[in-house]
Amino acid sequence: MTIASGADQPWLGLNEGERAVVAELIGGGSQPRVQLARKLGLSRTSLTRITRELIDLKLVTESDRQQRAARGRPPEIIDLRVDAAHVVGVKLTGDDLYAVVTGLDSWVIANTHVTLTDRSVDGVVDLIASTADDLLRGRERPSAIGVCLAGDVDGVGADSEIVGSTFPGWAARVPMARMVSERTGLPATVTNDVTALATAHHWFGGGTGPKSLVVIVIGDGAGVGLVLDDRVVIGAHARQGKIGHLLVEAQGELRCPSGHRGCAETLVTMPGIAENAGMAPQDYPEVLARAREGEPRALSAFRDAASALGAIVAQFVNVLDPEKVIVTGEGTDLLELARPTFDAALRDRLDRRASHELALSVDPFHFGQYAEGAGITALRSCL
Ligand SMILES: [Zn+2]
Repeated sequence: MTIASGADQPWLGLNEGERAVVAELIGGGSQPRVQLARKLGLSRTSLTRITRELIDLKLVTESDRQQRAARGRPPEIIDLRVDAAHVVGVKLTGDDLYAVVTGLDSWVIANTHVTLTDRSVDGVVDLIASTADDLLRGRERPSAIGVCLAGDVDGVGADSEIVGSTFPGWAARVPMARMVSERTGLPATVTNDVTALATAHHWFGGGTGPKSLVVIVIGDGAGVGLVLDDRVVIGAHARQGKIGHLLVEAQGELRCPSGHRGCAETLVTMPGIAENAGMAPQDYPEVLARAREGEPRALSAFRDAASALGAIVAQFVNVLDPEKVIVTGEGTDLLELARPTFDAALRDRLDRRASHELALSVDPFHFGQYAEGAGITALRSCL
């Protein structure tokens, strides 16, 4: 490995105030000096000292931009140099890993996809390290590496450990963050993939991200990432986010693997939709094609899924009263095929006193977002 960076040192050697300014510029974009000072509760003198240091480190630049309507002195804008540092994000599945390298704005510069050949812990860590090395070679300031996977992760930041992994032969607790950090020399994190997505939506939520957010992800399974009071929620035992067993249809015919009737996962997931259309769980693409052609049974499965999803969203809104709900994942075709059914179910199940200010968005999804979210989580934990 050629990457050299002190994993035990403060990130890039920055002090707390400098890290706060960088974090605000990453999340909130370029902004006037006055606004930055106000948001961070810094005096003008402190901010001047901090930005001077960050300019010397080539992490930020300063510019005078003439605003058309502005009178007098133009505002001094502080800009982040997004290519001043680089971050690697990795999504690990049972068969392969997908990795991206991004700048500080999480914009993907390069990506790669590698099949796992050695599934032992050491084998996977080695592959993550060599992939990161390839992606970071020749780039300015390799700064952090984040890994995510569909499983439970205990702890945050450098102490995060995979618990109860389904990888054959892995211990009950795998200190993946520490192992990756030791192999790469970079600050590292490991996180649940849905939580990583929620972290990304929270930090890059456009301007100031929402302080409370529900991210519902549907695909092969169904999960939720929560942001409450401006913090990404990690449960007491790192088992948060499972919505597969939410009861949405008490009279449902299909039973989930635990034997319950009417669980969310038998209705809204891609395998569930396929089964409800009378096909095998893996036949989702075929069911989707049939539904798009208007075949009644396939369409009915999508409508049932949309109805179930509307009920699920309503429950989260009723309980948490979030600023925003995002529905995303590989399985959002149901909203394209049966949006009116979803909307009707949502309206029906919302408490009548629920706020009408809920922002709901269906976000386009691509698989690389998990890796991006992992990188963002790693960067966030450094700042
Ligand atoms: Zn169940």
